[in-house]
Amino acid sequence: MKHIMKCSFCKTYTLKEKCPKCNKQTIMPKPAKYSPIDKYADYRRQAKKQDLIKENLL
Ligand SMILES: [Zn+2]
Repeated sequence: MKHIMKCSFCKTYTLKEKCPKCNKQTIMPKPAKYSPIDKYADYRRQAKKQDLIKENLL
């Protein structure tokens, strides 16, 4: 499995060890501690829950 690499110079993502644009050495981007997608899903769950509470009150 290939890792996605990132050029620290022009911020281009590539699978190669060198940037295809500027030929600089690429680095492996640090993984996020939490997924922003999960955070968004959590926000949606809370919003949905609030909708249900509103519906019950009506
Ligand atoms: Zn580059």
